[in-house]
Amino acid sequence: MYGKFKDHLIREISNIKEAGLYKSERIIVSPQGAIIKLDTGQEVLNFCANNYLGLSNHPKLIEAAKEGLDTHGYGMSSVRFICGTTDLHKKLEKAIADFFGTEDSILYAACFDANGGVFEPLLTEEDAIISDSLNHASIIDGVRLCKAKRYRYPNADMNGLEEVLKQAQEQRFRVVVTDGVFSMDGNVAPVDKIVELAERYDALVLVDESHSAGVVGHTGRGVSEHFDIFGRIDMITGTLGKSFGGAIGGFTTGRKEIIEMLRQRSRPYLFSNSLPPMVVNAGIRMFEMMSETNELQDKLHANTKYFMEKMLAAGFDIKPAQSAICAVMLYDAKLSQDMASRLLDEGIYVIGFYYPVVPDGEARIRVQLSAAHEREHLDQAIEAFTKVGKELGVIK
Ligand SMILES: *Cc1c(COP(=O)(O)O)cnc(C)c1O
Repeated sequence: MYGKFKDHLIREISNIKEAGLYKSERIIVSPQGAIIKLDTGQEVLNFCANNYLGLSNHPKLIEAAKEGLDTHGYGMSSVRFICGTTDLHKKLEKAIADFFGTEDSILYAACFDANGGVFEPLLTEEDAIISDSLNHASIIDGVRLCKAKRYRYPNADMNGLEEVLKQAQEQRFRVVVTDGVFSMDGNVAPVDKIVELAERYDALVLVDESHSAGVVGHTGRGVSEHFDIFGRIDMITGTLGKSFGGAIGGFTTGRKEIIEMLRQRSRPYLFSNSLPPMVVNAGIRMFEMMSETNELQDKLHANTKYFMEKMLAAGFDIKPAQSAICAVMLYDAKLSQDMASRLLDEGIYVIGFYYPVVPDGEARIRVQLSAAHEREHLDQAIEAFTKVGKELGVIK
C-alpha cells in the first residue's frame, strides 16, 4: 500500500519545491537572543524572532524555571481536571488576569489550542462568528471546529465589519474576532472601533493578543492599554511563546463565566496535558517582572522608532506600524529571497515573505525588533540593509 502513497507524497513535495514554497530550517546552536550562532559556525544578528522583550534567554526566567523544576518536578502526566493542576497553575492564571485587567484566565498548551478551543464550547449554529480576513491560522481552525455561521470582513475595515454585523443580526449571539497586531504588516487592529461597533450591534469581542501583548501599550498590556478600553473586550487569547518568554503555553482570559465554561467544555484543555511546572513558574516570574518595571517596553519602543526612522530616511518603503514588526516592502518575490540571502551574508538574519503568505505582489522582508537589540545591532542592520538595498537597486 505505502508504495503508491509514497509516490504521491514525492510528487506533492516536488510540486511544493517547484512552486518555491518548500520550507527549510536553519539550525541554531546557541540560545535565542540578539546574536545567535548557526550550525555553519556563522554568528548573525537575529531580526526574525518573536522575542520582542528579549526574555527568551533571560537569567531570571531560567532561574524561575529551575526553581519550578526543583519544587514541582518535571512533568504533570495529567490533564488539569484530573491531577494536572498545581498551585503554580492557579497563580499564573491569576497573574494573567491581573495583567490584562480581566476576571479570570485558563491555560492551554499553546495559543493554537486556546483559539482551537474557544468557539466550539461557547457557540452553536444559532450564532455568528465575524472574523478579520487576516486572522491567524489557529483562529481559522477554531472557527472551523464550531457550527456557528461564519462571516468575514476585509482586514481592519470598519465599514466592512459594520456591514457583516448588520447581516448577522438574525443570529442569537455574535462574536467579532481579530488579531491584536497582524503579523505580516505589524498594524494594530482598530479595536477601539471594533468595541464600539460591537456594542452598537450587540456582539462580543475576542482579541488574539499573541503579537500585541507585551509589545503594544506603554506597559505592554496590549490593545486594551493602547486604546484605553480595559474591561470592554470580552475574551483575549494569547501566547507565552512570543513576548512572554518564548517557551510554550497559551491562554484565554476574560469574563468569569466564559472562562468557567471553557474549563468545562474546551476540548484542548480537557484532553491535552497540563503545562510543566518549570514553564508555569517562569511565567509567574515573568508577569512579576512586567508589573515591576516597563523598561523592556521602553527599550523596545525606542528601538522600533529608531529603526523605522532610519530605514525610512535610507529610502526604504516601510509599512506604517505601531508594533515591533517592520515590513520592508519589495513587491517582488525573488527580490525578497535574494535580499534576505544577501543580508544573511552580511550577518543579518531576516526572512523574506511572498505570496501566498502575503498578498500577491506584496513581497517583503519582515524585521522584528526586540528589547534584546542594542543600538549598535540596529546600526549594523541598517547599514547592511542600505548596502544590500543599493546593490539590488531597491534604494538609490
Ligand atoms: C503565534 C500565534 C499563535 C500561536 O501561538 P502558539 O502559542 O505558538 O501556539 C496564535 N495566534 C496568533 C495571532 C499568533 O501570532
